[in-house]
This record gives sequence, C-alpha cells and structure tokens, in this order.
Amino acid sequence: MLKTRQIKRLTPESHETLLTILEALPGALFVLDDASTIIYANASAQALTGVAPETLVGNSFWRCAPQLVSTALYQAIQKTKQTRALTEVQYVSPVTGSWLHVHLSPTAGGLTLQFHEMEAPAHRQEIVHQRGSLSMDVLKNMRAGIAFLTPDGIVLDLNEVLLDDAHIRREEVVGNPLVEGPWCSSSPASQAQLRAAIARASMGETVRFETLVHPREGMELSLDVAITPHSDAEHHIEYLVLAGVDITTRKRAEAELHALIDAIPQQVWTMRPDGYIDYSNQRWLDYTGLSTEQAQGDGWIQCLHPDDQQRIGDAWQMSRETGTPFETEQRLRHGTTGAYHWFLARAMPMRDKTGQIIKWFGTCTDIHDKKQAEDEIRVLVDAIPHLVWIKRPDGSAEYANQRWRDYTNMTAEQAQGDGWLHAIHPDDQQRVLEGWQRSVQTGMPYEAELRMRHGTTGEYRWFLVRAMLHKDAQGTPLKWFGTCTDIDDRKRVEHQLKESWENWRVLAETVPQFVWTTQPDGSVEYWSQRWYDYTGSSPEQALGQRWNQFLHPDDDESTLTIWRHALEAGESYEIEYRLKEGQTGEYRWFLTRGMPVRDETGQILKWFGTCTDIEDQKRIETALRQSQERASILMNSNIIGINVIEGEQIVDANDAFLHMTGYTREDLRARHMNWLHMTAPEYLDRTCEAHQELAAQQSLTPYEKEYVCKDGSRLPVLVGGVALEHHPRQAISYVLDNSARKELEQRKDAFISMASHELRNPLAALKLQATLLHRQLARQGLEASAPALSRMQTQINTVTRLVEELLDVSKIQAGRLEYIREAVNLDALLREVADTMQQIKTTHTVVVRGATFCSLVGDKDRLGQVFTNLLSNAIKYSPDARTVEMELSATEDAVTVRVRDHGLGIPQEQRDKIFERFYRAVGPRQPTIPGLGMGLYIVAEIVKGHGGTITVDSAAGKGSTFTVTLPKRRDT
Ligand code: ADP
Repeated sequence: MLKTRQIKRLTPESHETLLTILEALPGALFVLDDASTIIYANASAQALTGVAPETLVGNSFWRCAPQLVSTALYQAIQKTKQTRALTEVQYVSPVTGSWLHVHLSPTAGGLTLQFHEMEAPAHRQEIVHQRGSLSMDVLKNMRAGIAFLTPDGIVLDLNEVLLDDAHIRREEVVGNPLVEGPWCSSSPASQAQLRAAIARASMGETVRFETLVHPREGMELSLDVAITPHSDAEHHIEYLVLAGVDITTRKRAEAELHALIDAIPQQVWTMRPDGYIDYSNQRWLDYTGLSTEQAQGDGWIQCLHPDDQQRIGDAWQMSRETGTPFETEQRLRHGTTGAYHWFLARAMPMRDKTGQIIKWFGTCTDIHDKKQAEDEIRVLVDAIPHLVWIKRPDGSAEYANQRWRDYTNMTAEQAQGDGWLHAIHPDDQQRVLEGWQRSVQTGMPYEAELRMRHGTTGEYRWFLVRAMLHKDAQGTPLKWFGTCTDIDDRKRVEHQLKESWENWRVLAETVPQFVWTTQPDGSVEYWSQRWYDYTGSSPEQALGQRWNQFLHPDDDESTLTIWRHALEAGESYEIEYRLKEGQTGEYRWFLTRGMPVRDETGQILKWFGTCTDIEDQKRIETALRQSQERASILMNSNIIGINVIEGEQIVDANDAFLHMTGYTREDLRARHMNWLHMTAPEYLDRTCEAHQELAAQQSLTPYEKEYVCKDGSRLPVLVGGVALEHHPRQAISYVLDNSARKELEQRKDAFISMASHELRNPLAALKLQATLLHRQLARQGLEASAPALSRMQTQINTVTRLVEELLDVSKIQAGRLEYIREAVNLDALLREVADTMQQIKTTHTVVVRGATFCSLVGDKDRLGQVFTNLLSNAIKYSPDARTVEMELSATEDAVTVRVRDHGLGIPQEQRDKIFERFYRAVGPRQPTIPGLGMGLYIVAEIVKGHGGTITVDSAAGKGSTFTVTLPKRRDT
C-alpha cells in the first residue's frame, strides 16, 4: 500500500516530461526520501542493479542495491542530508568490484543519486587514504569477521571471513540488517543479544560480548564480538564497526573446563588481563545469586563488603601491574541471606609464550569458619596478659595482639617486615635478629631475653620471648606463634639478688663460721674461704656431693640421714658432726645449721647454712658433765654431809647429812630443818661469825661445832661452805662428822692430864732428893761431884717444866686453869723475869727498855710464865743473834710489853697457828730446835685469862716481835 501511494505521488501528469528526461539519463538514477526509501529509479538503475524499477520503488535503497552499497556511499548520503549540498563520491563496488562515481544532490524530501561506472583511478591508494580506513580491502585478510553497519544495524560492508563462514555472497547481506543475516537468524537469543548491542553502540558505547552464531547449517561458532561506534566531527554517530573473533576452540575448551570447574566445591572464575571477569563457575553464581551476565565484567564488585572494596581494589591493581599472584581475604555477600562470609581469594596469571598475561585464574575458598575461629582466638589472644604475635614461616610478621600493639604503640602495619625490630633495644637487636633468623632457617623453637621499648614512655623493659613453629599433619610449616612475657621485675630482682649475693658473700667470708649454699637437690655450690682453709681442700674436692669425705667416719651415716631427710621434708635442720682438719688430720666438732630459701610460690631455691666450730664448747660440756658427775658422786657420798641453805633454812641435803643429824627427807621437804636451831647453843656465836665470813668472802674457813640432832643428841662436826654464785641467798655447806676425832682428842687429853699428874709427883720427889743430895755433898766437901749433880738438876727442872706445861695444857682443855687475883708490880716482875733469864741464858743479852709504872691485878706467877716463855722463845729461835729486847710501855688503859728478837722469824701463813696447841712452825732449822708447841698456847690462854691480847709481827729471817697488851683495870 505504501508503495502504491508513493508511486502515485511521484508520477503526476505535470512531471511526465521530467520523468522522460530522467529515464533518458545515461547513469543510473535513484530518488530517495529521508528514510532512504527508493521513490524513483530509472531504467539505467535496472541495468546497474539487475532489478526492475517497480521492484526497487518503495524499498530501502540499501536493501535493493547491494552492488552499490558501500560505507563511502553511506557516508556521502549522510553528508548530503546534513549539508543539503551537492556531493560526489567514487568507490569500488564491494559486490562487482567496478569503480563507481556517484553524484548526490539534495531534494525537497530526500536526495537523488546518479551512478556512473568509471575506470579505476590512477592513485587508488591516495583515494583510499582520503576516505579514511573505511575499506574492506584493508580488512580483507584479517582473521576476524568485520562488518560496517549503519547505526540502525544495516550492513554496509563486511569482509570475506563472515561471507565464507556463511557461504553467501556479499550482495545477499549488504544493505540488510545484520540481525537478519544467516549468522543469528536461527537463534532468537543471539538476535536479541545482537540487537541490544547495536542499540547500545548506536548510543555511542563500545559494546563487547560473546555470542554463539550459526553462519550456516551445521556450523556453530563462538564469537568474541566488539561493536565500536564511529562519530563524525559533530559527534553524530556515523556508522558502527563490528569485529567478531572466532573463539570457538577456546570456548569449547573453556566449556569443558567450566564443566569441570562447576563440579569443584570452590568458587572459580577467570578474568581477562583488563580486569573483565569472563567466567564464574556455578558455585560462585549460586553463592552470589548473580546470573552469568551479571557476574560478567565487574559485576562481582557489588558482592564485596563495602569495607573491603578499597583494599581489594588496591591489591588487584598491584597484582595486575606487577603480574604477581593475588591473594587476599575478603568478605562476600551471600545472594539470598545477605550475610557476608570470609573467603580467601587467590588468582594466578596465565601467560602466553611471550610471557604476556592472557588470563587470570582465580578461586575463592570459604574460610569463614576458620576466620571466625581465628577471630575468636584473637579476642582471646587480645585478652591474655602477654604480648602475642604470629609470624609466617618465612619470618614475616602477620599479627600482633592488642597488648603488643598497646605496649609498643605500633600498628600492625608498622610491625610488618622488620618493623618490629624497632621495638627492641638497640643493644639487643643484632643478637635477637641472628637468633630469630637461625630459628626461621632451622624451624627450631626460639627463645631469648630482650628489652622492649614502651611506645609511650620510651622506657625499656625485659621480656622473655618464646616462639614455636606450628606445622600441619604433613609437617608443612604453617605459622610461628610467639609470646613475650614481661620479666622485668624478675630481672630487677635477679639484679638486686646478684648485688645482695655479693654483699652476702662478703658477709659470708667475714663471719668465723664456714658458710655454704647448695642447690635444691643438696649439691654444694659455694663454701666460704674458711672451709677451704680448714679442710685444706680445693673447690673440686669440696663442691657438689663430695664434701662428706671430710666427715668423721663415725658421723657419716647419721649426718647423711639427717641431711637427706631435711632435703626431702624441706625443713631447717641442725646437726653436730666432726670435720677433719686438713693440716693436723685431727677432727673437730662442728654444729651445722641449714635452712631452705624459698621463692614466693614456696619452691625451694637454695639451701643456706653454716658450720660453727663447737670443739671448745664440746670440751667444756664434757668437763662440766664430768664435774657434775663428780659433784653428784660427792653429793651421794656417805662420808660428807652436804646441805644447801637459804637464810636459816636447809633447803636441800644429801642422805649423808640426813643420816648424821637423824632427820628424814620428809622433814627436809616440810622445811623442818633450820641450821640455827640445829646448832648447839655454845656454838651459836661461832656459827654466826662463820656466816658473816661466808657473806663477806663467799666462802668460810672450816670450823668445828656441834649440831643438836633430831633426837637431841650432840654431833661434833667440821663445817665448811661456799656461797652459790648465781643464787646470792643460797650457800652450800659440807659437814664432816667430827665425833670420832673429838672422842680421840678427849681420850688424848685425858691421857695427857693423867700422865702429867702421874709424872708430877715422882718428879717432885726426884727434885727434892737431888737438892738434898747436893746439900749433903757440899757438907761432906765432895765438891767435885757438884757439876754432874747440877746438870742432873737442870734436866729435872726441864722435865718438871714440861710436865707443868702439859698439866697446864690439860687444865686449859678442861677449862680448869685458875688464876690468882693479886696486885702485881709489872715493872718489877718483868725485870725479875729478865734477870732470871739472863742468868740461865748467857748466849744473849736481855735488854729491857722503858717501864709501865703500873701495877695491875692478876696472877703474878702466870704473868711471869708468859714473859719467861716469850723471852725463852726469843733466845731459842735467834741462835745467831746476840740480843733480845723487851720494851715496856703503857697508855691510860693498858700496858704493852713487846718482846723482840732478831732470829728466824715466822712465815706469814704460820703466824696464826703458832698459838694453837702442839703447833710448831715448820722451817729448815726448826727440827734442830727442841720444843713441843705448848708454850704459846699456854701464853695466849693466860693473856686471854687476864683480858689481854697477844699478837705477833714477824719477817722471815729478820726476827719476830710478840706484843702483849693487858688492860690496867678489869671488870672480872
Ligand atoms: P716450842 O716449845 O716449840 O717453842 P711454843 O709454843 O713456845 O713451842 O712456840 C710455838 C712455835 O712458835 C715454835 O715451835 C716456834 O716455831 C715458834 N716460835 C715461838 N717463838 C718464836 C720466836 N721468837 N721466833 C721464831 N719462832 C718462834
């Protein structure tokens, strides 16, 4: 219908003439409207196209005249439409190969085209060049199928590749829409794909896609198609260039691969070098929920977690630029749940022979569970109070926990590579690095103590660093796990300990004991120098367990038993044992004390101990024990009575004392024994005196007394005593039963008394007879016998005097010496005594000096006896002297008579004793001087009987002076 109407409009009566002219024109003439529909074609047009004008009119010029279609013509028509100016163009018909020259002129509703066939121009290349690259000649030999299309998709030109594939001629295609061509006419999907691509390209976009075509029956090709729009100077789309590369072989291989890939449980994809994802396996599509088309290109990016996009983009860019394998962890959104899961994305480049990357093959492995576990571990690791880090098998840093980052004030990135070394003290870096590299090479555990810098304070603290290489079941190294434990406090303590150890050592070397330390197992690690000096050993001989060789063999077993027990129980101990002195080989006793030193957990770190020389103490103890034994023997003896007194009380006594006195132990316990009460009344004074002496001198000279026993009987005793040093109020006294001696003495006294009485009478008779005889001889004139008789008389006198003295002694003993009380002129008496003495003893001159001018009441004979005796002794004991002196003097109350000689003198210690009965001083010359030791005893008794005193002053070898002082007046 359209065709009929157009023909009517273009064939009015008034234009008959014009039509005739047009029919007659030599060239083929076409009149086209704006839509390039042929509204008129002349007869020559039929000749050129081989189609009747009726068939041509009403149809698209491009479809009806494939022999004439070319991009050059197409461009010229477009130009004429736009410029409304006359244009001409020459080109080779792609179908016939003949040169055509076309005049184009605009008309009211379209334009006219007038074709002339012509010879080939001389400078064909030039023309080609002038027309740009729009000639199939250029593309003739290309492996790709090339077609030029109008923006509507009409084929302007195409190369042999496409025609060969489809087994058709150019004129069958040129001028027709490409989508209707044989390539995709049998596939509506391919047609739709191509149509959509042409539409997008005609909007100015370069479109790339892969498609499946069927150029002819039984042929299926995979093409990689690119449609590129070409614009003119005014940016109008002039035409489209389609290039299709046969990728069938590759596609098949890929399809097989993809079938395989789809079967594997990982997400797999391939990417072109330009970053275009051209394949994603089913698993990927299932996970992301994307269609194949959506997944193509960069569609996958929308599945990335927004926080990861930048990082992943950077990583990809880096891998693509450098061609290094891509590996990263990323979160991908699940298509249906919308949840993000962690994946490990890896991609490897595939290269051609020249090394050019032709493809990236990638996989995504679900590591969500692992990641989650890792995250949990990291939370845990961040929570623990240690500095923790993870490194890869090659030693590069992978992770450091929060505490590590907080301490060092470094980010995970700063710690990367060797960055972590900056946190290490410069002095430790070299050592640490060497050790770490060694461990990385060998895979052996790493351990070091090092100083790490506190990021904010700049302070260094000591850490113990330990790392272990974790391997999988096959022994493949996976990761290094490391920890840093703060041991700064421990280090400080160690340092202080070292210092205090030094101090301690000085102390240990100073004290007089042997000082030692052992390890917890008891092996000795230190002896102070004194040990080595004493034992004469070397450290090799004394350290460890070897020290016991110095023990006394008898102490060896007991010592080691105690020591082992102490070690097991961890308790302090004390042992006494003997150690051998190196030099003398003698053993001395030592007291050893040991104690464990523990750490804060109670663990024993060391044993400390000392050995103190207690040899002297031991000896004292032994001596003490022996003396105690002796004391107790003494105490238990039945000879000496012993008692302990406190005040007047006897608080303890031995059996002997109780036995002597008749008291019982119960009496003692009941405190019934009072020494004051037990003392016979006449001994009270002497006893009190003795106790005063005890208080003053802590001991008392043994004295005689009598106890009144429990039964009232008397017991003569000899008592001595000492005050107890540590108990001032107590004293210990020893008591000897004196009764036997006393009895003997009494018997002796009785004998002396009796003997002297018995001797006295015969002596008196003898003396009388001698006197009478002397007188008779004188009367008879027998003077010659007188000297013998006289000597006899002298001897009788001596014996008489001895007997008198004996009698006096026994009288004194019995308390029966009596004195006459008469007035005695002392001066006269003493001169008489001196004269008499001078007459008897002619060896010495008796010198009397001074006078007393005193007469006192007393027994004249007895007083005469006193001074006779003193003068006699003075002469007797000064055999080498020539004089003895008697000095008389008096004071208001008393008279003093001194008898002095220049003889032997009396040793100090004997002076008190010479007044005792029968005492004779002992000296070298004494035995030669006769005497019985009674004179001074009687003298002292007589002086005492007159209320006077007698003392002696003497110096051995120089003589003696006896001083007698008598009171002038006496009450009794
Ligand atoms: P005897 O008969 O031994 O002289 P005495 O009682 O008279 O006894 O003296 C006691 C002792 O005192 C003497 O044995 C003597 O050792 C010593 N003695 C006494 N008078 C003197 C003296 N004048 N010079 C030295 N010794 C004396």
